[in-house]
Amino acid sequence: MSQFDRSAGTDASADRDGDRDGPAALRTESRVLPAEVFATLGNDTRVAVLRALLELGADEAPVSFTDLFDRVDIDDSANFSYHLRQLTGHFIRRSDEGYEFRSPGRKVVSAIFTGTLTERAQLGFFPADGACYDCGGDLHGWYVDDDLSVGCVDCGAVQVSYPFPSGGLDDRTTDELLQAFHHYVRHHYCLAADGVCPECTGSIDTTLVRDPDDEALDVAVEHVCRRCSYRLRSTIGVTLLDHAETLVFHSDRGVDLNTAPFWQFDWCVSDRLTTVVSEDPLRVRVTLPCAGDELRVLIDDTCAVTETTLVE
Ligand SMILES: [Zn+2]
Ligand SMILES: [Zn+2]
Repeated sequence: MSQFDRSAGTDASADRDGDRDGPAALRTESRVLPAEVFATLGNDTRVAVLRALLELGADEAPVSFTDLFDRVDIDDSANFSYHLRQLTGHFIRRSDEGYEFRSPGRKVVSAIFTGTLTERAQLGFFPADGACYDCGGDLHGWYVDDDLSVGCVDCGAVQVSYPFPSGGLDDRTTDELLQAFHHYVRHHYCLAADGVCPECTGSIDTTLVRDPDDEALDVAVEHVCRRCSYRLRSTIGVTLLDHAETLVFHSDRGVDLNTAPFWQFDWCVSDRLTTVVSEDPLRVRVTLPCAGDELRVLIDDTCAVTETTLVE
């Protein structure tokens, strides 16, 4: 399990039967709001219809109602017709010959099923700079199932694993990819630490969590979005990556935290350098070593820095 955890707390499976019985066929692409799009698609049968259209060759020729109904796992033809109607207009087109995709429907299918119908982007193992926080071994990166990870091939410790859109792999060498990944993850965590949800820009509540479940950490930072319930968990250290004194302390010693991959720093990927100094209220100290000196950062239960001490 990585120290970095990211999950959406929203449940997109809500069915909106009953309030969408209106003039679906009259809606145009431009009039359909994103929320409506997701509400329309937040139903297994409708997604199954789109998938069946693809599998039955709707890209080439319209598919008949009977063929579609046979293909989708549903017994009630009236219920099936209802779901089909919800998709007709914006996502699919109905003609005398049958059903075929409209462009938004085809795009949805591509987005949803690329992973199962075509080869997923994968990349592994390529060398990454830095040493394992646990055993000092060499680091490697790999990309599987939309997650980019950097970990140790000797002991298996994962320094970081975080979702990274596969388009970010295009036209980049593995070194460039790691650099982009560093910026992307660092900004996500720092944005959350600054109170802005990286997913929806809503307000984030940040707290320290003692002994988090399923984590290798004794203390972690948890960010939860009030608006979309997006949840991010990380080490405390990673939230210090844009803290002014932390940046200056490192740059005075020749280390640029903006560009140096954060997973090279023990204090970012483990809690070995994190000490609990008070349980109630929870207060922790993170010790940042650099070039023989130390910056000791005291943090309160909201993850705010309350005091820093330089030890030379
Ligand atoms: Zn290791
Ligand atoms: Zn949010």
